Amino acid sequence: MQKKKQHTGFVEVKGAREHNLKNIHLSIPRDAMVVFTGISGSGKSSLAFGTLYAEAQRRYLESVSPYARRLFHQLSVPQVEEITGLPPAVALQQQRGAATNRSTLGSVTTISNLLRMLYSRAGDYPKGQTILYAESFSPNTPEGACPRCHGLGRIYDVTEQSMVPDDSLSIRERAVAAWPTAWHGQNLRDILITLGYDVDTPWRDLPKKDREWILFTEEQPVVPVYAGFSHKEVKQAIKLKVAPSYKGTFTSARKHVLQTFANSQSAMLKKRAQQYMVASDCPVCNGRRLKKEALSITFQGYDIAEISSLPLEELHELLVAALGQPFQDEQQHQVVLRIGEDMVARLNVLLRLGLGYLSLDRSTPTLSPGELQRMRLATQVRANLFGVVYVLDEPSAGLHPSDTEALLETLDMLKAAGNSLFIVEHDLAVIRHADWIVDVGPFAGQLGGEILYSGKLDGLQKVEASLTKNYLQERSPVDSHQRLPKGWLRVKDITRNNLDRLAVDFPLGIFTAVTGISGSGKSSLVSQALVELVSAALGQELVSEKEESGAEWEEKPVRTESGVITAGMEKITRLIQVDQKAIGRTPRSNLATYTGLFDHVRKIFAATRLAKQRKYDAGYFSFNLPKGRCPNCQGEGFVMVELLFLPSVYTPCPVCHGSRYTGKTLEVTYLEKNIAQVLDMTVNEAAQFFKQEETVSRSLNVLIEVGLGYLRLGQPATELSGGEAQRIKLATELQRVGKGNTLYVLDEPTTGLHPFDVEKLMKQLHKLVDAGNTVIVVEHNMRVIAGADWVMEIGPGAGAKGGQLVVAGTPEQVSAHPESRTAPYLQKFVI
Ligand code: ADP
Ligand code: ADP
Ligand code: ZN
Ligand code: ZN
Repeated sequence: MQKKKQHTGFVEVKGAREHNLKNIHLSIPRDAMVVFTGISGSGKSSLAFGTLYAEAQRRYLESVSPYARRLFHQLSVPQVEEITGLPPAVALQQQRGAATNRSTLGSVTTISNLLRMLYSRAGDYPKGQTILYAESFSPNTPEGACPRCHGLGRIYDVTEQSMVPDDSLSIRERAVAAWPTAWHGQNLRDILITLGYDVDTPWRDLPKKDREWILFTEEQPVVPVYAGFSHKEVKQAIKLKVAPSYKGTFTSARKHVLQTFANSQSAMLKKRAQQYMVASDCPVCNGRRLKKEALSITFQGYDIAEISSLPLEELHELLVAALGQPFQDEQQHQVVLRIGEDMVARLNVLLRLGLGYLSLDRSTPTLSPGELQRMRLATQVRANLFGVVYVLDEPSAGLHPSDTEALLETLDMLKAAGNSLFIVEHDLAVIRHADWIVDVGPFAGQLGGEILYSGKLDGLQKVEASLTKNYLQERSPVDSHQRLPKGWLRVKDITRNNLDRLAVDFPLGIFTAVTGISGSGKSSLVSQALVELVSAALGQELVSEKEESGAEWEEKPVRTESGVITAGMEKITRLIQVDQKAIGRTPRSNLATYTGLFDHVRKIFAATRLAKQRKYDAGYFSFNLPKGRCPNCQGEGFVMVELLFLPSVYTPCPVCHGSRYTGKTLEVTYLEKNIAQVLDMTVNEAAQFFKQEETVSRSLNVLIEVGLGYLRLGQPATELSGGEAQRIKLATELQRVGKGNTLYVLDEPTTGLHPFDVEKLMKQLHKLVDAGNTVIVVEHNMRVIAGADWVMEIGPGAGAKGGQLVVAGTPEQVSAHPESRTAPYLQKFVI
């Protein structure tokens, strides 16, 4: 039982040991903005999220019914002796929208609900149209959805061309590509033989009637199939009453594709089906997703689909204007006042947070993690809660310094309403704004996990061990490398998102930072257009983000995206995009396997005397191959236990005790360590251990140089943050012997990094440039921008007000440019 303490205005933590935390004691004020600082891996998140938030959450769930608790995942109890004075907590973490495709900014912020009420009760109805309920304005309800496209706005169908891409092939040669492969496809061809269709003539020479029937018929005849027989032989066999191989049911290609797309549980099969489908705007609602009646009602001249597609900024203006207008109908006036004022207040917060360029109908999977977090933050500001603690993860991510000021105002509003803020941050503007700093360190992993300082900002300067204190000066000049471009990659007519026939030149052979306020078009230009154009020119395959995130059911873009490279490609031989996407979704992928390091380690084990004696090859030391891994858990190290009435839990495998290998495999040692013990080492430890092995230690040293020395070799990919994943990818690229002429593109590589780690990362990136490569980063970090050779600012505003090149030049030139939004901040960092 926990003793109730007097409310002291402080949260007291005793004996926190989560992850790397070293049994720490801590006292932090309530009703204040507390910022947790420290280098990556020092233990900030383990403290703020893993301990404080987790405990608040656990207490909350204990207070609700046991039934409700069961609905949540098994909650891990944080490793901590006691926490007192902890208010209920709301976490606003950085994460991609796991929400469904149908979730939009409007639905998440609930503004769309208000808008529907407004249309229902205060819209302009055409003569004869009866009043509609609010639900009738939602494409997600049967009352509102367009009957033709079921509220999707688009219809998917197949054409002869989409299903038969090569019409010179015969049916036997698999002309009907949309049909299943393997035996099911064979089955369908055999059925056609029984039915008397010609399967050996090129598709294009078959009669139109036959082609139509095979592709589009709704009929599903069931016929006897004689495998391997010709049509003539089949006829003969039927006459002689020979038993068929089996009875087969025919399904036309269209029916097969649409059924698979609609009903298959397998994402892969769905994707395969989608390949043969073409999407087009729904001809009934023209993509507006609603019934005709709902679309006939307008407000200020807009139907609800149109008003939902306006940038929030314009929607705000329109509502403010409507509120000031005289109304004929007093009841309508009252409704507009009540709902309109609420909407305006909600929009105000979104605009303040720099999200005015988004629209209500923007689907959440297309928002960046930073945009999502700020959207949730805005929703909280209007939730009118008090007495709670908001736990935030780097809310400045993706923000230009001019946007960060607005963020701080919003956080102040939450605090003023009587809430506490616990924030994990690296941004100096946020740190300087804090009432209280908790500095965690001194280093990462086992070398961190201590509280170096807890108190007001000024006191931090006196803390010897703090790495954070070295970066707090307002003015701190950074040397620009001042390299000169070796050529230019010229691109023009770039059209996508808010870019409209933009022409820009990217310098080659130097380090370029692309900056601009949030929503100005940096990612559209660099991470999307540039990457796609260069990879197309190189003939490199591109794995799109959507495919990886599983969000591929989002409609394919209808607008045509364009752009042409007019010069410079002869100087680029390879493109590497280093992003923050996860490096694997299963615990089978880890740091050592991803970097390729593990291949070498396994060879080292296979070369030991005992391994040779027993004829164990390198495959024996893989937990992904059956040879040497534990057969009970198949090399996972843990097993799932199904509990009656409770969520299933993972426990360490009882056979291998989590080591993943068989006892036999573990008998093989190298320098007295077995393979499981090696996987348990941190990168730092392994670098010591393998210092005789050149290839392995090269990989390990690169990982240390990008600040990942604290990670364990076997750390599952699923436990890594986006920033860690990005640095692992970078390290993997860095250890390859480069030939130069590679273009590296990175989107905000400093996200999640302490300034100390940023310095390390920049050294690596500048090394790439010195080796003859080009580096282009999208960045907001002024130290990175000041250290670049070339700076490009996109803007001047966000959304439709952005998308232009405001200025391009050296950091000094940009910092002196009168129209640059970056200049006032950059000035403090250029010499
Ligand atoms: P920070 O937030 O300061 O970057 P973290 O609190 O995320 O640091 O990590 C501190 C240490 O705890 C690191 O060594 C990290 O590898 C480890 N760690 C983080 N998450 C987990 C986890 N789920 N399981 C085991 N160790 C973890
Ligand atoms: P930045 O990287 O500078 O923050 P973006 O390139 O992400 O800006 O966005 C520029 C504009 O393009 C914004 O108006 C944004 O809303 C729009 N936009 C970006 N991605 C998408 C998308 N997937 N769908 C629709 N609009 C988008
Ligand atoms: Zn429709
Ligand atoms: Zn096992």
